[in-house]
Amino acid sequence: MRTQAGERLEVLIPAQDIQARVEHLGKRITLDYEDKELVLIAILKGSFVFVADLARAIDVPLSVDFMAVSSYGMSTKSSGVVRIIKDLDYSLDGKHVLVVEDIVDTGLTLNYIYGHVKSRGAMSVKICSLLDKVSRRQVAVPVHYKGFEIPDEFVVGYGLDVEERYRNLPDVCRVVRS
Ligand code: 5GP
Repeated sequence: MRTQAGERLEVLIPAQDIQARVEHLGKRITLDYEDKELVLIAILKGSFVFVADLARAIDVPLSVDFMAVSSYGMSTKSSGVVRIIKDLDYSLDGKHVLVVEDIVDTGLTLNYIYGHVKSRGAMSVKICSLLDKVSRRQVAVPVHYKGFEIPDEFVVGYGLDVEERYRNLPDVCRVVRS
């Protein structure tokens, strides 16, 4: 893909590995939610590609809702102070919720979202994240279903961006600046 001047992309997780892992996660989630009313809550914008593939890999009836949040503070660092830009459209009463996230870094954003969703009357709340930068964690947040653990590097693709670019890459790539 065309890149910005002074920027190069290196594939970290190829598309076929992502697809295989998503299929595997879908099968596990199907077994765990066989007889339950499942709602996927995708966190915009980064998880829009992941949730589209994951939803189709899950073989139980489900609904999908979206939340959009923004983090106050410096743009590349999470502050833990989260503002809800788009809240849920539907009640979670009696539902089993799976929060679908693109990446967990410090855990501050997801920790806030987890608390918010749990306060909305769901029967259960679990978390599924495609990527996990475990070495960066500042608050413990339970990631029940995980795609890949990755090193502390800034990644793009498969929904993830840098300044809104590269979300449409099929692979997860690291951005190398020269
Ligand atoms: P946390 O609150 O866990 O520190 O930050 C989570 C959010 O930071 C993610 O939802 C994502 O928006 C952003 N983020 C963290 N690491 C990366 C990364 O390597 N690449 C991209 N594109 N966003 C990231």
